[in-house]
Amino acid sequence: MSERVERFDPTTYEQGWRDRWEAEGLYRAPDDDPREKYYLLTMYPYPSGDLHIGHWFAETGADVVARMRRMQGYNVMLPMGFDSFGLPAENAAIDRGIHPAIWTERNIERMRTQFRSMGCMFDWEREVVTSEPAYYRWTQWLFLQLFKAGLAYKQKAAVDWCPKDQVVLAREQVEGADRHCWRCGTPVVKRDLEQWFFRITRYADELLDFSKIDWPEPIRLMQTNWIGRSEGAEIDFAVEADGVAPIRVFTTRPDTLYGATFMVLAPEHPAVAALTAPDRAAEVAACVAATRRETEIERMNTERERTGVFIGSYAVHPMTDERIPIWIADYVLAGYGTGAVMGVPAHDDRDYDFATRYDLPIRYVVMPRGGEVPDGGTFLPHTDDEVLVNSGEFDGTSAAQAIKAITASLAERGQGGPSVTYKIRDWLVSRQRYWGAPIPIVYCDEHGAQPVPEDQLPVLLPQDVDFAPTGVSPLQSHAAFLAAECPVCGKPARRETDTMDTFVDSAWYFLRYCSPRDATRPWNPDEVARWMPVDLYTGGAEHAVLHLMYSRFMVKALRDMEMLSFDEPFTSLRNQGQILGIDHQRMSKSRGNVVNPDDLTSRYGSDTVRCFLMFIGPWDQGGPWNPTGIEGLHRFLGRVWAVAQATGGGHARQIPGMSVQNLGGWPPSSGEVPIQEMATLEGGMRALRHATHGVIKEVGEDYAAFHFHTALSKLMELTNAIGSARDDGLARTDAYAEAVDALLLLLAPIAPHVAEELWARRGRPYSIHQQAWPVFDPVLAAADMIELPVQVDGKLRDRLSVAPGTPPDEVERLALASERVQAYLAGRTPRKVIQVPGRLVNIVTPGD
Ligand SMILES: [Zn+2]
Ligand SMILES: [Zn+2]
Repeated sequence: MSERVERFDPTTYEQGWRDRWEAEGLYRAPDDDPREKYYLLTMYPYPSGDLHIGHWFAETGADVVARMRRMQGYNVMLPMGFDSFGLPAENAAIDRGIHPAIWTERNIERMRTQFRSMGCMFDWEREVVTSEPAYYRWTQWLFLQLFKAGLAYKQKAAVDWCPKDQVVLAREQVEGADRHCWRCGTPVVKRDLEQWFFRITRYADELLDFSKIDWPEPIRLMQTNWIGRSEGAEIDFAVEADGVAPIRVFTTRPDTLYGATFMVLAPEHPAVAALTAPDRAAEVAACVAATRRETEIERMNTERERTGVFIGSYAVHPMTDERIPIWIADYVLAGYGTGAVMGVPAHDDRDYDFATRYDLPIRYVVMPRGGEVPDGGTFLPHTDDEVLVNSGEFDGTSAAQAIKAITASLAERGQGGPSVTYKIRDWLVSRQRYWGAPIPIVYCDEHGAQPVPEDQLPVLLPQDVDFAPTGVSPLQSHAAFLAAECPVCGKPARRETDTMDTFVDSAWYFLRYCSPRDATRPWNPDEVARWMPVDLYTGGAEHAVLHLMYSRFMVKALRDMEMLSFDEPFTSLRNQGQILGIDHQRMSKSRGNVVNPDDLTSRYGSDTVRCFLMFIGPWDQGGPWNPTGIEGLHRFLGRVWAVAQATGGGHARQIPGMSVQNLGGWPPSSGEVPIQEMATLEGGMRALRHATHGVIKEVGEDYAAFHFHTALSKLMELTNAIGSARDDGLARTDAYAEAVDALLLLLAPIAPHVAEELWARRGRPYSIHQQAWPVFDPVLAAADMIELPVQVDGKLRDRLSVAPGTPPDEVERLALASERVQAYLAGRTPRKVIQVPGRLVNIVTPGD
């Protein structure tokens, strides 16, 4: 107790251990390793130039699990890299005159150093940097494969355009009800542009199937809603105009077909011009022009009045042959469904508003069974207990049956049939910016868009470009880049100047980690077969319908091209929460609540920062920063420091059958603790061993479940128990040594430096991170010892202390061995021994 222990000062040893781990390649994940593989991936960062506390929070959690899995015997791969293409680098070039490549490289260099200071077990040999030609060459190769498979195509489309960033956005990059840019928050506008798309819609149904993956419910829900599958019917309405094809509508409610009293087309619908009566032309043209000035969000705003224009022609109701007036209105969007809707005012609020405004007929065709036909307003409920009225031969049919019957009847007449629509649109991948992977396509006057031959990859980004944003790619003014040769005829051709969305880079980076230095192919199939799919992926939930969906699409597309043999990239997924400022607000420079991890590390050491972040709250929720908390965690590691060095090194009290060997950690396990010896242990040691084994069990479970905060609480309890044992004079017992070794092994994943340092100081073999994960004794872990009264001929003579679950023959042996029982037996052999398990032992003597 009075032993002098050196002051706890992590700065004296942390860097030294990191250097040694790195120099000795401790965290390499060898390919030719017989151990079971465990691929743990954590989302790679954008090289902003500064690792913030959020990175530490996210990556420490992944590192803890990776380290534990490694101690549990897996060959763990935990790679790291940089998602280094993208707008911020280009904006830095515009604002500060630094070339994006230089800005990116500087930032990466700085972040590598910062990453190393965290003490994470990243395998830096596998690093990928997506803006390097050695990487983007294969991103371009991937584009070509998708192009050849018909999954990449170019089309003119009304696309979302960020006026501030001067770039097109994918639909997934437009956020919120006001439809703002995901990056800068500026409301987006529509532009008609020729763009490259990936055909993600072809995989819509398969993307809805999550049965092969263990992902958090919110992410599955977001993807499901984004894909937005709805079942219904397509219905063709013939029109009273020569040479105009019937107009197709989609509805999820074909049971309301008899209630259709008008039709509304999007002003952009291709049939509008042909169907407009001469006397309506001026009004229709004005409406079309006005609509083009509006944003999609204005058009979908449910608050505003719905105005439209009758175009002077009629459709024919497919069931009743009734004439139905055709209108146009901006609330119908050309890009959704078929760009045409049947107006059913009795059963749709939007149609009801429109019908009352323009005095169009309202006809109720669905009503509650046994109820009244509504009088005014809409009738919307869509339950199992509704029937059809005013619907010809379908009167009295239940609404559910009518959906099937009407759809079937339409199909029979050749006027429609069952149909499914999706909200998801193809993935828009072209960007009119410089800092991205050039799309490997050239345009020939004669042969159109031609893929760049694979042996000409990479299409290199030229260094000398003018970065001033003009709304077109800076590459368009680079003559040398533009000049290309048609691969078909060899004549001069023009190079595509759009670059790829950076989400294309990240849709396959996990494959590149498997063989990052392969210069001849994007990945080595043997290594991909060995490592993929990713066993555990960690990262932010904000990528739900972006990166996480795109990666699933990419893997499925490559599988169908027979380049991969699995269906999903990430078997399980865990999303971290967010670290907030001390004011419980999101950390931001403008709020002045940003915590700098570098300052904290130099003050407290990396382990304290790691432990504090993991203690802040449940990892999947995060929590606010708390400066007092970090002091508390620092003191905790200081207590570990003190108790771990209180043993002196001698083993004054050898207890037979018990040693640190039982930990299974060091040296390897060699058998169980004989129960009988346990019975003789003194209370303090018994309590300590119980605490040790209980904590071994629980901490392993907590880490695996990402419950780092509760794991730390238990490690604190164990440290306190060890401290009490020390104060009770037990520091030189094997139970104490066992407890300290276990504490260090359990602490190693979360506080790797202090665990390594103390392990070494205790004379244990290097490295603690190469030891086996401690094994707990279930009996010791389960509960404390129980007292068993021992009777001789029904009279209490002694008490036995045994572990719960001790087998009856062992209990009998212990009872008969008791000195007091022996005294009463006086040399006689008992007639029988009766046991009430866990309650009582009664020894019956032979009598006289
Ligand atoms: Zn923007
Ligand atoms: Zn040509």
